Amino acid sequence: MSDPIQILNDKCVSCGACVKACPFDAISQAERKTIPVIDLTKCTLCGACVQACKFDAILMQAKPAADANAIAAYKDVWVFAEQHEGRVQSITYELLGEGRKLATDLGCRLCAVLLGHDVKAAAAGLIARGADIVYAVDRPELAFFQDEPYAAVLVELVRRHKPAIFLCGASTMGRSLVSRVAVPLRAGLTADCTGLAIDPESKNLLQTRPAFGGNIMATIVSPNARPQMATVRHKVMKEAPLDLTHQGKVRIEEIAFELLASRTRRVKFELEVETTLNLSEANIIVAGGRGMQKPENFAMLRELAGAIGAGVGASRAAVDANWIPYSHQVGQTGKTVCPKIYIACGISGQIQHLAGMSSADIIVAINKDPEAPIFKVATYGIVGDIMTIVPKLTAAFRAALGK
Ligand SMILES: Cc1cc2nc3c(=O)[nH]c(=O)nc-3n(C[C@H](O)[C@H](O)[C@H](O)COP(=O)(O)OP(=O)(O)OC[C@H]3O[C@@H](n4cnc5c(N)ncnc54)[C@H](O)[C@@H]3O)c2cc1C
Repeated sequence: MSDPIQILNDKCVSCGACVKACPFDAISQAERKTIPVIDLTKCTLCGACVQACKFDAILMQAKPAADANAIAAYKDVWVFAEQHEGRVQSITYELLGEGRKLATDLGCRLCAVLLGHDVKAAAAGLIARGADIVYAVDRPELAFFQDEPYAAVLVELVRRHKPAIFLCGASTMGRSLVSRVAVPLRAGLTADCTGLAIDPESKNLLQTRPAFGGNIMATIVSPNARPQMATVRHKVMKEAPLDLTHQGKVRIEEIAFELLASRTRRVKFELEVETTLNLSEANIIVAGGRGMQKPENFAMLRELAGAIGAGVGASRAAVDANWIPYSHQVGQTGKTVCPKIYIACGISGQIQHLAGMSSADIIVAINKDPEAPIFKVATYGIVGDIMTIVPKLTAAFRAALGK
């Protein structure tokens, strides 16, 4: 059998059950009572049609078993070190923090892979954040991020050193880059993970991410391919602590000139002008929900935020009501934040909101309903009316801070 799936004409009764069962519209039937046809460009070999056929008329080749020896050759946890103009971005430190746990569970090394020009200082910084080895490619052509050479170099390094796990930030750069790396390697890639762990039995990477619009959390494994690749959302994981005594090695890798070719040219870089404090980077956030009751009441939150140097966040209910722009939304479909202090005002604490802020160090909840779920995650809770509590807090902070 040459095709991986085929319909057996001698058994098929043209009932059409497979056409209905296919979730990818990959099976069609010209008219009733004709043998259906499978479009192999659409078929994902999910097997739904095989199960739906009562006449055993669909034959699907078993997927080749993974080569255990080939899989075992892949070791170590790799983190892609995102740098901009030589400055390593904080998402990299978060990946190193999480990568260390995975490497400990696997009993392997934690490595960073760094592409750029004049990377010595950045490489030393990665070791101080826990990398045992930094694979560095130091070339002027890699000074600025460009998809093609960065992807080609990473593919080459993965083939050379065979990491078991490859983590990358789910940033604009990471999203653009890592899919171009996964495809030539034929590796599984899970985007936008919010949780990573090692399966104690199989030692596979368990990659957890929201699915179906955030209504469920799905855990994905890539047992048959290496490396296991994942992008991770910013501010979900804790940064690896700085440890200047940590010892590691920097390995400068030689790369063939052809791999550095690019069909695009960097013209210039323009920094986005933020009109408000960038929520993802804010140390303190004051956030308002439906309990704020009307857009004018957000002025009260801005005053409190101004008094303590905080950014202003919001629940989706407040954003959907047009009380505040979407760029302020915190949660599963908004920003993920990890401030030192998060003050939730009139926010009930639904799971989708918690997904974006529950890793804050200290959560203060102000809500008139003592049963509100936000109190379950709050470090400090104030039961009462925000309209009276927030102005009192602002006045107290101003007095204490001498403002
Ligand atoms: C797929 C999906 C994705 C989602 N993504 C997000 C997301 O990214 N972010 C997000 O926030 N939500 C998200 N949601 C919506 C989420 O489920 C909730 O509907 C939303 O978080 C509720 O916002 P809220 O807490 O402000 O409003 P409510 O749930 O209505 O809560 C308002 C709270 O204010 C309190 N309150 C009212 N008046 C006062 C007062 N005067 N003083 C003190 N307290 C008062 C009430 O007791 C109540 O607890 C998503 C939902 C889905 C289905």
